[in-house]
Amino acid sequence: MSWTYQLGNRTFILDREKAEEAQAAKMVINGRETMTFNLLPLKYQWAYTLYRTMKANHWEPEDIPMQKDIEQWRSDTALSDVDRWIIRMGIGYFSAAEGIVGDNIIHVVRELMTASELKLVLGRHAHEENIHADSLLYMISSLGINPHECEAMFEDIDTIRRKNEFVTQVSQSLRRDMDLSTVESKQLLAKNIFVFGQCMEGTQFYGLFGMVLSLYRQGKFPGIGQMFRYTLRDESNHIELFRQLLLELIEENPEIWTPEFRAELVGLMQEAIKLEKEFIADCLPVAAVGLNAGEFSQYIDYIADRRLEGCGLPLLNPGVSNPLPWLAELMDIKKEQNFFEGRVTEYQKSSALGSVNDDEL
Ligand code: FE
Ligand code: MN
Repeated sequence: MSWTYQLGNRTFILDREKAEEAQAAKMVINGRETMTFNLLPLKYQWAYTLYRTMKANHWEPEDIPMQKDIEQWRSDTALSDVDRWIIRMGIGYFSAAEGIVGDNIIHVVRELMTASELKLVLGRHAHEENIHADSLLYMISSLGINPHECEAMFEDIDTIRRKNEFVTQVSQSLRRDMDLSTVESKQLLAKNIFVFGQCMEGTQFYGLFGMVLSLYRQGKFPGIGQMFRYTLRDESNHIELFRQLLLELIEENPEIWTPEFRAELVGLMQEAIKLEKEFIADCLPVAAVGLNAGEFSQYIDYIADRRLEGCGLPLLNPGVSNPLPWLAELMDIKKEQNFFEGRVTEYQKSSALGSVNDDEL
């Protein structure tokens, strides 16, 4: 079957069967080359849907007022030393972490994917990491924190350094032009996708999310808290994106999903949890009003099990309850929030393909 177009004395024949074969050869990795560039026809519909969700959530740091945060930061009575320390740790950790995630997407994951819609959504993911990094810059400059402190935190706080090393060690060996024909190399990539999506963004971001948003619930740092709410909403999409990528990779390459490999991933999650609990202890070295290190640690056990569950892996703490049920509610941001008026709706309407039935793509 083919499409034939006659224009004057020229005839153009488009081979439909060949084109359909090309789409069938669209793969997460090791796919057909033309499908690396052609977005259509879509094979991974979920990736395009997720891209549209992410785009509709677009935000800019400067949309969020920091006046109240600045007043509190300068006041002698509004905040405790621990409150300020948590913000410093948050800024210190995330300044590096957002950059590490973005770098891994661009130089490893997006680079190795051979389906265009996966590259599209990963490009958006990388851009959101830029927005997050920019929001930290905005917080630092608003509060008047010396930017050298961020770099110093990255180097001098052991628990931050160890968290960063834990993730960069699975990224370095996967740079450009990696041969993905062997089981070992595919497992390296799967490990990278699991560690970044489920261990780092999915678990190791949540100690600080819990602490900063606990302060926000007490009326402290309304601007920073708001930015963390937007970031948390973005992260939930990143975690889902990397989870789906892992599941597709396994489905197309079932030989990688051995019992040994699954046990290795669970072991990496255990390591991630340990590092996160040590980090939480550094964030809360002394007791603080309304902040309980034990609760945040339990939350890490709880959330880590949700990540394992999502990947079809065995749980580490079956039955552990969620000590911070309000955290999920804070992620559910109402679009009508006044400082964001207009903008969100505008972005949502702007999708040219918005009215096209997803099945047709
Ligand atoms: Fe981020
Ligand atoms: Mn992220």
